[in-house]
Amino acid sequence: MHKARKCFGQNFLIDNRIIDRIVATIAPKHDDNLLEIGPGQGAITLPLLDYVEQLNVIEIDRNLISMLESLKHPNLIIHQGDVLKFDLNTLPAPIRVIGNLPYNISSSVLFHLLENLDKIKDMTFMLQKEVVERMAANNGSKIYGRLSVMMQTFFDVQMIFIVPPESFNPAPRVESAIVHLNPLTQAKTKDIKVLEKVVKLAFSQRRKTLRNCLKSILTQEQTDIDLSQRAEMLTIDDFITLTQDHEKQH
Ligand code: SAM
Repeated sequence: MHKARKCFGQNFLIDNRIIDRIVATIAPKHDDNLLEIGPGQGAITLPLLDYVEQLNVIEIDRNLISMLESLKHPNLIIHQGDVLKFDLNTLPAPIRVIGNLPYNISSSVLFHLLENLDKIKDMTFMLQKEVVERMAANNGSKIYGRLSVMMQTFFDVQMIFIVPPESFNPAPRVESAIVHLNPLTQAKTKDIKVLEKVVKLAFSQRRKTLRNCLKSILTQEQTDIDLSQRAEMLTIDDFITLTQDHEKQH
């Protein structure tokens, strides 16, 4: 019996009804290129193997790797290592990424995957409910921030359903939720790095105006966006405009 390791954010799914709903949400097709992040003891992995010809998984915990290897499943391709260092270019594309993500690194995983957006068909994740709410938040809301802007610039973000703590062992302290991320057909920008820089600065001091937060990179004369506002009032398109206006300065 594997003892859950906190350092790897291990909360294993034990509720078969929830597992069935996750698989139904993914709706795997025979020839999908699936990548599961953090398969753990295989709660989602094993049911998925009934559907697909090939399932790649990336897991950091060597004990769990041994368990997965002992299954000797012909359709399961196991990668040992840190997903944050995993190169998606080694897999056939387009990739459908899924996972009950380790909560301690979930934002870093999302940002890492953003860098490989052109390889990704869609993504379905279990995350803390609060993180999913931040990803899907609209401007004007207190929880609208860097994660909302970065995700909604590239994806249609949809919270699918909420998962209670009792569905896991050990039970996390907070509620979780399944989120589906579908890349927008028309990317609003290709320049992730510049957008990230602008968004990070804009939200660096939420109570201050944009004029204050962005003064090192942009002045009011260089943009039509009203910089007397706070970052949380700006729409995604406003952030794209700010990014373009910043780029024009070079
Ligand atoms: N999928 C399983 C389930 O639903 O029961 C396990 C989910 S558990 C929340 C997260 C999994 O991610 C664990 O198996 C953990 O070892 C793995 N993990 C944690 N950090 C990782 C990393 N940096 N790279 C790859 N896997 C990681």
